[in-house]
Amino acid sequence: MPQVLTHHQLLEIAGEFGTPLYVYHAERITEQYQRLRAAFRETDATFFYACKALTNINVLRHIKSIGCNADCSSINEVKLALLAGFEPSKVLYTSNNIAFSEIEAAVSLGVHVNIDSLSNLRKFGERYGHSYPVGIRLRPNIMAGGNLKISTGHNKSKFGIPVEDIDQVLDIVKEKNLHIRTLHIHTGSEIKDVEVFAKGIEVLFNLVKHFPELEVIDLGGGFKVPYAPGEEGTDVELLGKSVKAEFEAIAKIYGRRLQVWFEPGKFLVSEAGYFLVQVNVLKQTGDTCFAGVNSGLNHLIRPMFYGSYHHIENISNASGVPEPYHVVGNICETDTFAEDRMIAEIREDDYLVFYNAGAYGFEMASNYNSRFKPAEVLVKDNKARLIRRRDTMEDILATQVVLED
Ligand code: PLP
Repeated sequence: MPQVLTHHQLLEIAGEFGTPLYVYHAERITEQYQRLRAAFRETDATFFYACKALTNINVLRHIKSIGCNADCSSINEVKLALLAGFEPSKVLYTSNNIAFSEIEAAVSLGVHVNIDSLSNLRKFGERYGHSYPVGIRLRPNIMAGGNLKISTGHNKSKFGIPVEDIDQVLDIVKEKNLHIRTLHIHTGSEIKDVEVFAKGIEVLFNLVKHFPELEVIDLGGGFKVPYAPGEEGTDVELLGKSVKAEFEAIAKIYGRRLQVWFEPGKFLVSEAGYFLVQVNVLKQTGDTCFAGVNSGLNHLIRPMFYGSYHHIENISNASGVPEPYHVVGNICETDTFAEDRMIAEIREDDYLVFYNAGAYGFEMASNYNSRFKPAEVLVKDNKARLIRRRDTMEDILATQVVLED
């Protein structure tokens, strides 16, 4: 049974630290990592946590402590990962549409880089030639993921070098004598269907013959986790078996063993996160009862951004009779978290918990409406500790330059 924080624990934490509050459960992250390790134990697999999902440095340190590597989406994430203590050789920078100067910065820090455009690949060749092993991010033209907004490998996506441009890639590699160490794809997020990964592997395997120094096939992240009760996530154990078979087949054909890398974000931290809010106002209008909470899309944008589902429970009155609510925020904008959601009777001041709040929750939070961002708490060894204080008015003004008239 997965480890969970109970209503009782969450109520205590809400009382101690106040709300809105993100709470992360370290042992749950460990459990997810161990599940991946077990599923891929017979494959030469390495996992790089896609830290864009949640970058609090204490979470990064925990992830490092359990033996996982780090995948970064910006040079600042690379710097954070290094500050958290990851060795440069355990850090991957999968760039997208970035200035070449960021690639130079990443190289000077000694991390592995996946390049996603022909122009940056050419510049890389001019600057480093064969001296620095590098990766190529390809767009495999595969439709995958929970919805179009989180699908990144299809034939209209901005991500990666379109696989149909492979001849141009090969020209650059030859002309500049590049050392290609990894081929990378990331087709999307919330990929339940294991077959999608097989399709990606097939695209990359057809290209292996062109890259004699290739060591790694990097299949990106995107494992789905359950959001609604009864929902299923990606069957990573099945995926582990199919990846093993496919990599053994390729070893026979090419006479060399390749490693597989993955970049899980949600899989590691989504279920470890809880978002706690308090109900400010109940508003009955016609058939609808709005439960207006002390948060909004500024703190958790996923429902408004992607139509994401977050399961919500009333932890102050869990045995109350379930009734339908529109759970909405306090932002001057339509910010609906849930519509007609059956939740145990809600009273003003009750605490609600949003599940699956570890990934892309705090990380996408903003100060919109000049509101403070939530605080963050990490629960580890049964101890709840503050890992980000709540904003203050000074923080709101911190980067503003007040002009003197
Ligand atoms: N790798 C890359 C390149 C990504 O862009 C992302 C997120 O979109 C991930 C990994 C992690 O995806 P997820 O959180 O769905 O596992």
